[in-house]
Amino acid sequence: AKEQGRGRFVFYQAEMTERVQKEAELAHMLSSARFLQQLYMVYQPQFDCESGLLVGFEALLRWEHPEQGLISPLTFIPVAEKRGMIDDIGIWVAQHVCLEVGRWLEDGLSFGTVSFNISPVQLRSEKGVECLLSLLKSSGIPLHHFEVEITESACMDASDNTIELLESYVNQGLKIAIDDFGTGYSSMVTLRKLSACRLKIDRSFIRDMLHNTNDEMIVKATIALAQSLGLEVVAEGVESKEQLAVLKNQGCDFAQGYYLGFPMKSGDTINFLRLLDRK
Ligand code: C2E
Ligand code: CA
Ligand code: CA
Ligand code: CA
Repeated sequence: AKEQGRGRFVFYQAEMTERVQKEAELAHMLSSARFLQQLYMVYQPQFDCESGLLVGFEALLRWEHPEQGLISPLTFIPVAEKRGMIDDIGIWVAQHVCLEVGRWLEDGLSFGTVSFNISPVQLRSEKGVECLLSLLKSSGIPLHHFEVEITESACMDASDNTIELLESYVNQGLKIAIDDFGTGYSSMVTLRKLSACRLKIDRSFIRDMLHNTNDEMIVKATIALAQSLGLEVVAEGVESKEQLAVLKNQGCDFAQGYYLGFPMKSGDTINFLRLLDRK
């Protein structure tokens, strides 16, 4: 048994070394990705459940490596967070969102609000958040066009100063959405800590709500909670007509998901907006 235990340990260690190596390699590739123009943003539309009208987009980061193809943000964001690269990437994201929104405004297109994700690690740095928010302001774009998505756990980690800074921007029009609502350990505390405008119901609840009564009840309760607090609710990951119908029935404000629209590259997003404007 001892022998086996040893073998197992060696096996784990080899596996770990390999993982660390892979991670270092990924981090190295990522550090040059911005300059090699392998990063870009995609924009996933969000719609009003009742009217079906476009209300905005969520901006999502993409990394397309020439040999490895698309690398998921679920893979590279954690590496960027661990290796101290997330602040720079977060700034890059905000800059690109500003450039894009600037173009839409110049074209006279109506698009509502554009939201983007702020990493928990990014939110832990007061300087980083300050830099990001002042970037939004200096773009000259009215702040009500922007929304930042913050997860519950990220909010719990944020300092009082950071929360205060965020609030001062909220007073100037910036919107805050609590992302993946219901998946953290402290949904209610988050609601008290942050003056959010929106709750985003996590995709996992939407995915199972038609088959799982608990999930259906959680969705229902979240919508009711948001309504009584005067917040807007967005359902994420809506993949079917049936899901949309139930959400609409329960009074959910907005929906986002493959059934309604995939994330689109810049050019496709502009074409989409032009088409909508012509209607
Ligand atoms: P998230 O913020 O929860 O983003 C929603 C994810 O769900 C996106 O995955 C989106 O493409 C996907 N999605 C949207 N509709 C559907 C649907 O109907 N079905 C399914 N199965 N999926 C759907 P994506 O783009 O791969 O991003 C994954 C996560 O990576 C995001 O989760 C977010 O946490 C993070 N991420 C993405 N972009 C950024 C970024 O610019 N900065 C930071 N810090 N994190 C980002
Ligand atoms: Ca999000
Ligand atoms: Ca989410
Ligand atoms: Ca999610």
